[in-house]
Amino acid sequence: DFLAQALPCVQKLSPYVPGKPVDELARELNLDPAGIIKLASNENPLGPSPKALAAIRAELPELTRYPDGNGFELKQRLAQCHGVQMNQITLGNGSNDVLDLIARAYLAPGLNAVFSQYAFAVYPISTQAVGATGKVVPARQWGHDLEAILAAIDADTRVVFLANPNNPTGTWFGPDALSAFLERVPENVLVVLDEAYIEYAEGEELPNGMSYLARHANLLVSRTFSKAYGLAALRVGYAVSSAQIADVLNRVRQPFNVNSLALVAACAALGDTDYLQEGRRVNAAGMRQIEQGLRELKLDWIPSRGNFIAVNFARDAAPINQALLKEGVIVRPIGGYGMPDFLRVSIGLEHENERFLQALRKVLAP
Ligand code: PMP
Repeated sequence: DFLAQALPCVQKLSPYVPGKPVDELARELNLDPAGIIKLASNENPLGPSPKALAAIRAELPELTRYPDGNGFELKQRLAQCHGVQMNQITLGNGSNDVLDLIARAYLAPGLNAVFSQYAFAVYPISTQAVGATGKVVPARQWGHDLEAILAAIDADTRVVFLANPNNPTGTWFGPDALSAFLERVPENVLVVLDEAYIEYAEGEELPNGMSYLARHANLLVSRTFSKAYGLAALRVGYAVSSAQIADVLNRVRQPFNVNSLALVAACAALGDTDYLQEGRRVNAAGMRQIEQGLRELKLDWIPSRGNFIAVNFARDAAPINQALLKEGVIVRPIGGYGMPDFLRVSIGLEHENERFLQALRKVLAP
């Protein structure tokens, strides 16, 4: 019995459930995949930057070679971008990989990581996979209660995971709240500030975590190329921290954890500011469009600063999800996050948002 033989902490895990792939639903419904829209995984609806595609094509003849295991060029670009040193950067196979490196380097049985209720699913998975305990702090208005998170930290806490904006709720906290938190959190606790969606949100209301690094040696900021940079399939993310923390993460990192297509595409995407700006514009317009549609349907939602929105149906949303699937619309049920009345909808292109709203009107019609 190889389940019984697995480590007890692993036996207790449930696997991550991704958004339903378009091809899978197409097979189930016997439909052309082109007729299906997927607004389920917070992907960039613009498709990849043409500059990233060109860089990938140029790199193809090198596929027999190992990638640059230190990611020199990408780190150089990122260092420039964020005004940090290259030795402060850790590259990951998606930012999930970075989160996992943190758990492997800093957590173990008897230790704990603190995170909020309705936090991203990978925090508990990575924490429990190494036998550590996840301490879940009740949310406040669906978002982080930073005071309660501080209060939950104990002598065995090694890591705090914060997401700003948060997935799946889209909630956020401001610069004053972050400063106050960082001033008071114990210096031996590693604060992981997950900014997977920050490119959609940074401004007066939301701080850029990078600007707190110089003052707080226990801060690590994680980012990804999967969302605003539109490269989810390539799996590339990164952390910026003190050089010492980066050195520790580098010790547990798999050699060549970021592939060469991802490395060149990420470099090119970083240089494509027009793409980034267009993505922000499309997202802001799509958010308004979906909010307007929800308002007309008299539905409630959690205000979001990400590229997704959690819609509150005030009753079990599973049947609504099933009915939307039959209409060829894939969104994300978040019952697994303890939010069974909600569906999380990624913001798409205008016609995709309209298809979603149309399907929703049909499904909810009396
Ligand atoms: N953090 C948060 C809050 C996320 O929502 C996601 C993507 N679902 C990630 C990290 C991981 O993204 P990736 O591994 O693609 O970089």
